[in-house]
Amino acid sequence: MGNNELDQLRKRVDELNLQLLSLINERALLVQEIGRAKETQGVYRYDPVRERHMLDLIKENNNGPFESSTVEHLFKEIFKAGLELQADDHRKALLVSRKKKPEDTIVEVNGEKIGDGFPHFVFGPCSVESYEQVAKVAASVKEKGFKLLRGGAYKPRTSPYDFQGLGLEGLKILKRVAKEYDLGVISEIVHPNDIETAVEYLDVIQIGARNMQNFELLKAAGAADKPVLLKRGLSATIEEFINAAEYIMAQGNGNIILCERGIRTYERATRNTLDISAVPILKQETHLPVMVDVTHSTGRRDLLLPAAKAAIAIGADGVMAEVHPDPAVALSDNAQQMDLKQFDDFVTALQEASFIRL
Ligand code: PEP
Ligand code: MN
Repeated sequence: MGNNELDQLRKRVDELNLQLLSLINERALLVQEIGRAKETQGVYRYDPVRERHMLDLIKENNNGPFESSTVEHLFKEIFKAGLELQADDHRKALLVSRKKKPEDTIVEVNGEKIGDGFPHFVFGPCSVESYEQVAKVAASVKEKGFKLLRGGAYKPRTSPYDFQGLGLEGLKILKRVAKEYDLGVISEIVHPNDIETAVEYLDVIQIGARNMQNFELLKAAGAADKPVLLKRGLSATIEEFINAAEYIMAQGNGNIILCERGIRTYERATRNTLDISAVPILKQETHLPVMVDVTHSTGRRDLLLPAAKAAIAIGADGVMAEVHPDPAVALSDNAQQMDLKQFDDFVTALQEASFIRL
């Protein structure tokens, strides 16, 4: 075979490549159109009957030299790429996505504009245990000029024999303290039926990590007229986290704060692994404010300060941390809550490093 002949054959292959390229892109445009039609009809994107029909047609008409299995493999890749294109179109359309709404969402709670470009802070005990316990923390929060208080009344505990929280009684304590100290209250709700009552007592509904995919709870929170702080599930991917927020927003409630609280990995040096890169990813992909819970992510008092600095440096809209007047006797999370002195030092250190602007 002369050089000239080889060049000719290669030229022909180049031409065929370009034809294939133009054909698969033409196909992609059609697939997108089908995707849009299916979306308006509310039909599921993947249709196995249709897929089988396409493969059979291709195999029946295959005259080689490729074997049927090879042809099937190649076409399945093309089908898959088409489905992914439809999924991308769908992602673009998510209500929480930045593509849908380029401007930052700002969630206002008790005068705090979470998402306004400055860090905001939420402090308070893991669990509400008594009026005195919450009031002591609230006094310290207030004295420092902060506006937001946390405290769990319904506690989703790993063991059913552990303290389950004071329930409604806990919410009543939070409301009383919040009023006395002019603070906004964030508290976790674990059952959709409790939301209606709870909204009378709190300013932000927290949905905890263990409930991130409790879709009925997400829908109920989405139907409520209250901001929602949604925590990332223990083993949730960022995509699952974003979809959980979408459940809330799809019901009409767009006042959502996302909260990275660490994920479960093989690492045992910390309680969870703080996925710090989730913060800028969530900020890029969604228009929602993003907070970091430094207590549950690290589970270590000695890491609260560096983790908070890292969170703010990477662009978090806020930091949450647990504070208890006497952590040693706390009914939950006694190994990781700050006492009031440690709280003072934590805030002073953040202020000295210019991470807090009050
Ligand atoms: C909490 O914030 O009280 C809590 C239980 O956290 P998480 O859901 O992130 O574990
Ligand atoms: Mn806790």
